[in-house]
Amino acid sequence: MSDDVDVTTQMALVGGDESSAARWTERYSGALMNTFGTPQRVLVRGEGAYVWDADGNRYLDMLAGIAVNALGHGHATLTAAVGAQLGTLGHVSNFFATPTQVALAERLLDLASAPDGSRVFFTNSGSEANEAAFKLARRAGSQLGGTSERPARIIALDGGFHGRTMGALAMTSRAAYREPFEPMPGGVEFVDPSDPASLERAFADDDRGPVAALVAEPIQGEAGVQPLPAGFLARARELTAACGALLIIDEVQTGIGRTGSWFAHHQSALGEGVVPDVVTVAKGLGGGFPVGAVIAYGERVATLLGPGQHGTTFGGNPVAAAAALATIAVIERDGLLDNVRVVGGVLRDGISGCGSPLVADVRGAGLLLGVRLTRPVAAQVAAYALEEGFIVNAVAPDTVRLAPPLILTSDQARSVVDLFSTLPDLRPPGEDS
Ligand SMILES: *Cc1c(COP(=O)(O)O)cnc(C)c1O
Repeated sequence: MSDDVDVTTQMALVGGDESSAARWTERYSGALMNTFGTPQRVLVRGEGAYVWDADGNRYLDMLAGIAVNALGHGHATLTAAVGAQLGTLGHVSNFFATPTQVALAERLLDLASAPDGSRVFFTNSGSEANEAAFKLARRAGSQLGGTSERPARIIALDGGFHGRTMGALAMTSRAAYREPFEPMPGGVEFVDPSDPASLERAFADDDRGPVAALVAEPIQGEAGVQPLPAGFLARARELTAACGALLIIDEVQTGIGRTGSWFAHHQSALGEGVVPDVVTVAKGLGGGFPVGAVIAYGERVATLLGPGQHGTTFGGNPVAAAAALATIAVIERDGLLDNVRVVGGVLRDGISGCGSPLVADVRGAGLLLGVRLTRPVAAQVAAYALEEGFIVNAVAPDTVRLAPPLILTSDQARSVVDLFSTLPDLRPPGEDS
């Protein structure tokens, strides 16, 4: 191994002395675009549910790279699968097939209980999976009478988040994300998921033309871990089915075990037994390796994009496919869906009953939880947690998101409950205590 170029050597090659976090943060801001704000810490290593920063401090990772690192950090099975595939055949382009990508596509169709004729398209991210779903919706819309001047409408939800590329952004509701980049791809409308009349109006048979698709997350992650109201998806399925529109379920954040089942919409409380037309996944799928997928249900949807109508250089890459196959295999072998339900229950019950006057309630499912606070101090809670050795995420001014690795133990969950039960009397900036 002595002739390996290791990470430390590469740091030296770019002129680093690896000395202090402050120095790396300074170099970061000199070399990277400022789209993310100042990084909270410089992280150098991870193991299981823990990561370490450049100053040697340890943190319990309750965010897992934003609901990504399903198996935690440095998982031996995942590392071995990626290394073995890269050493055997790393990348070939989609002019060629690989057994690994075929096996993963079959695995996903099986986990999704997708009917005969269903097919998968691989991507590198959630946004790209939703771009492909957007293109499926455009093709469905043109079959239903939409034109380039007047496309069939795509219905998206207030609070919904589908990514930062232009098509995914067009279906994302937050004005601050969209407005600097207008014009958006056209034909997208938003409905308020908490107002049933708003959904009915979108599908009303009037002169606004046909509906191509409705896109929804079972739990709106970026909106602060907000589950859809009961009955919403079932009614959306009825309305889309009645007019031939696609029901697209974005499981990028909720999928692959995060909520305690392979897909959140498989749970009666979240999906109400609906069978979708399209499901998108990404975040947790590769256990930290970038990979996403679009699952198209049934022959009609699976053939909306024909040869030459969509493509990708990296999507379906055998290394990414090997990472995803290994992640799924470990979730299954180690009973992690059960673990998510048990440990998610410890977190949810513990935090909602922890007695802190700052905690209002806990939303979500499995290991995707939003702790709603009684004051808009989520950023202060996250900063305090970091000092105490926990990574949590201020997803909204009054909500802390927890999305830890699916391998989290009950003891680790109890340490998070203790953190919440001992929160100091935090106040919004500028407010006197
Ligand atoms: C994160 C996320 C995306 C975007 O995924 P990227 O991999 O960041 O492109 C899309 N939809 C949902 C629900 C997400 O949580």
